[in-house]
Amino acid sequence: MTATNPLSYLGEQLEAWRQAGTYQRLRVLESPCEPLSRVDGREVINLASNNYLGLADHPKLVEAAIAATKKYGAGSGAVRTISGTMSIHIELERRIAQFKHTEACVVFQSGFAANAGTVSAILTPEDHIITDALNHASIIDGCRLSRAKIHVFAHRDTAAAGKILDDLAGASGRKLLITDGVFSMDGDIGPLPSLVEIAESHGAIMMIDDAHSSGVLGRNGRGTVDHFGLHGRVDIQVGTLSKAVGVLGGYVCGSRDLIEFLYHRARPFLFSTSHPPGVAAACLAAFEILENEPERIEKLWDNTRYFKAALNNAGFDTGQSETPITPIMVGEAKMAHAFSAALFENGLFATGIGFPTVPEGKARVRTIVTATHTRELLDRAAEILTRVAKQMGVLR
Ligand SMILES: *Cc1c(COP(=O)(O)O)cnc(C)c1O
Repeated sequence: MTATNPLSYLGEQLEAWRQAGTYQRLRVLESPCEPLSRVDGREVINLASNNYLGLADHPKLVEAAIAATKKYGAGSGAVRTISGTMSIHIELERRIAQFKHTEACVVFQSGFAANAGTVSAILTPEDHIITDALNHASIIDGCRLSRAKIHVFAHRDTAAAGKILDDLAGASGRKLLITDGVFSMDGDIGPLPSLVEIAESHGAIMMIDDAHSSGVLGRNGRGTVDHFGLHGRVDIQVGTLSKAVGVLGGYVCGSRDLIEFLYHRARPFLFSTSHPPGVAAACLAAFEILENEPERIEKLWDNTRYFKAALNNAGFDTGQSETPITPIMVGEAKMAHAFSAALFENGLFATGIGFPTVPEGKARVRTIVTATHTRELLDRAAEILTRVAKQMGVLR
């Protein structure tokens, strides 16, 4: 008797993706993450990272990680609630809370864990979540795990969010209004001032996910709450340590009670081992740089304006972007992946993104500039994009 493979449907699905041109091979980085990186044996201009400030291989972060590793070891040995809370974890949480001007902070292993762990911990099936249609997958998973009722409003449509809350006025249960600070696929900014007002007038909890705004927006990169001057009016601020901060992790900032509650109930905090000490130390070094070298953030925004102008002059449709994330809209997923592959052959690394990450027909190649790209590299990138786009009919 020949056994049939019960997982054969996976191979069939992969084959279907190959046929559709949406099968994705992992690109392998063979150098540190830098503006010029070595990827799959080729030197390419890297517009595909979230290393906004060039901190991922900054000598101060690397040295801090090495020193902490030598002093405390490679791993922490346990989850935070058993014996895996090290002094350096507490130091990092204090540092972030101070930086964000909040009472307290808890660090998770990733931004994903921070969102999913927080939303699922603070709500019950009796409660309601009002969430932007383009919020990050980790928020969506957190919403589902909470089993609260999920009400999705159209992207950045504050009137629609208000209407949902009006309709829920008599309903029992708590309400959580949640938005990304900066949206990762479009690079636009959430309408925080109006959402905060709506949350306040309806007695809803306000939560924002500042993954792409941490280190990018606000004074010294304090995020969208600082950018909009909304201190004290957002109950839950999530940020990431994995993007501009250059390392790995996520954090939640808010009241002391919120943080202590998460210590007791957030499942990734309770059931998954804490960061290696080297990670916490490198993050601390990154906050030192954020506070002392704001010129890095200025350079990021200079580069952003310069590169967007070059793309717009060339005739590209860059959507609604207001941040260093600049999509180049191409339409179909197959074209986005083909365009990205052709760019790579010509020395430029920019990710093709299609359904289901973005809606059908809204596929794009996403570019992200960093503070460490030189003007010369950005000029070369714009030249490659324009030349290849014309060859492929993305630009006429
Ligand atoms: C990247 C991202 C996350 C996840 O952060 P990690 O630290 O990489 O897990 C969460 N939310 C948004 C909006 C993101 O873009």
